[in-house]
Amino acid sequence: MRVKSILSEGKQIQLATELVKLGARLQVLEASTSLSRERLVKLYKEVRGVSPPKGMLPYSEDWFMGWQPNMHSSLFVNIYNYLVQYAGVHDIEAIIKSYQLYLEHVQVNQLQRVLSFTRAWTLIRFIESNVLSVTPCVKCNGHFLVHSLDIQSNHICGLCHVPSRAGKTKQNSLKSKTKQQCAA
Ligand SMILES: [Zn+2]
Repeated sequence: MRVKSILSEGKQIQLATELVKLGARLQVLEASTSLSRERLVKLYKEVRGVSPPKGMLPYSEDWFMGWQPNMHSSLFVNIYNYLVQYAGVHDIEAIIKSYQLYLEHVQVNQLQRVLSFTRAWTLIRFIESNVLSVTPCVKCNGHFLVHSLDIQSNHICGLCHVPSRAGKTKQNSLKSKTKQQCAA
């Protein structure tokens, strides 16, 4: 029994360390592991060399509806749904794996990292509580993030209908790259 509890504690510490490295806020660590707040604060300081930022998570679901955040968040959700469906991962493990793949995509395509880990984690909570959903675009068939209350049968995504403020050159490279991913 004793050995088992040490093993599981080791796993919790490993998980918390991985989360801190990905940029998770303290609230995410508390919700995802069984370690005490004191230990998590200590671990955070050890890994990052600074104290965790204080205060509430400032994120509202509206952030995900901005043009660029929506493209990145939709990409993340597509990866997440794919992994949950086909790779047999779930919960925090699925969020971590999806986020690592998102980071790879951003790096390979030399894009800006728009979605932080904590936002990605918040996003999955919004989806689980049915505040946000994904819906197919009628033009490209990609799946995009929308407010659950705004689901329409004729949704046109931000890539098929790019607002003029999105910036032309950036928009075109992001368009083709994200399109492949979201349609996958
Ligand atoms: Zn579209």
